[in-house]
Amino acid sequence: MKGSVLRLQLLIAAILVTLIARNESDGYRLRRSVLPSFYNLTINIQASRNGGLGYSFIGEVAITLQTNQSDVYEITLHKNSLDISSCLVYNKDRILCQNVTITSLKYDQETHLLTVPLLEALTANENYTLYFKYTGYVKSRGQGVLSEFYKTDKYHSVYITQLEPVYARLVFPCFDEPAFKAKFQLRLGRPSEYNAVSNTRLIGTTKKGNNSYVDHFDVTPIMSTYQLAFVISKYQARGNRSEFAILSAPENYNYTEFSFNVAERVIDAYNKVFDMPYKNLGNEVLLFATSGWFDDNAMDNWGLIILSEKILVQKPGYTDGHTNKEITCLNIAHEIAHMWFGNSVTLSWWSHYWLNEGFARFYEIFLTHQVNVK
Ligand SMILES: [Zn+2]
Repeated sequence: MKGSVLRLQLLIAAILVTLIARNESDGYRLRRSVLPSFYNLTINIQASRNGGLGYSFIGEVAITLQTNQSDVYEITLHKNSLDISSCLVYNKDRILCQNVTITSLKYDQETHLLTVPLLEALTANENYTLYFKYTGYVKSRGQGVLSEFYKTDKYHSVYITQLEPVYARLVFPCFDEPAFKAKFQLRLGRPSEYNAVSNTRLIGTTKKGNNSYVDHFDVTPIMSTYQLAFVISKYQARGNRSEFAILSAPENYNYTEFSFNVAERVIDAYNKVFDMPYKNLGNEVLLFATSGWFDDNAMDNWGLIILSEKILVQKPGYTDGHTNKEITCLNIAHEIAHMWFGNSVTLSWWSHYWLNEGFARFYEIFLTHQVNVK
């Protein structure tokens, strides 16, 4: 009797949780009437007055998208703290079909949903391009594009990104849900004395004005918006930036040998264990960048893993003990596992996050034991 009452209570609780979850997500989730397939994204970090990195950026994004419906009179996506100055819609022949007045854009501050009204319905199964020009802002804490610095004889700025789970919308207007996967191509403007890395290989650099350059990165694999990442810094690379490297402040270069060796052995072991080598997932590059201030310890961006300095840097007498080395191995093995579990195969919604973390947690222990780094 007790058992059946308990089962009834559990059933009622499960129904309530489902109903509450549905109500909470109503109004927040994107409809799947319009799907993006490609983001052509340019972000220009403005130089500050003293020649360093400024606290705002000019962004331009051209999103290729489609619908399979015949009655789509608006496109809804996300943005947060971006000031849009231009919104244009192009058809499949790249002919401008609508210059959308900024005042006609509908924006909900609570849900971050941005709705672009259309004068004519989209034609089903044809490519359109939705273009935005906007200003975004660099933050000193939290998520989005983050500013930090390290000190040698003077202070040096580092800009890193943290976009999981819902912060890509702080960097560019986008369909900021994990199931809305697409390819991305990034161009990144930066002052000349800095260098930049992103998810994929640097394929070219062009000069822009006296003191700035634009780096062009290769097209990413199909991935979620939260996977996009870049680091702008004066970091030094141990290894090859176009393939496999650890990037750190130059004075930490001598202390990244251990983490480099661990990462090399871990990726080799995964390539054997999974019978699907990393490069076959669709990205040739795997970089690790340090962050002195990173709150979350680590972020598994595809091709550009960001790890806290205390994990990647082993300083004699300070962070080179056995326990610390074990933590380094576990963290590197964990973040690399996400290239398979989370990045290549992705959750459809955040309620399945435990699957990402469950697999990565299992393999961090399994692989750390396998590689047996001393
Ligand atoms: Zn994880």
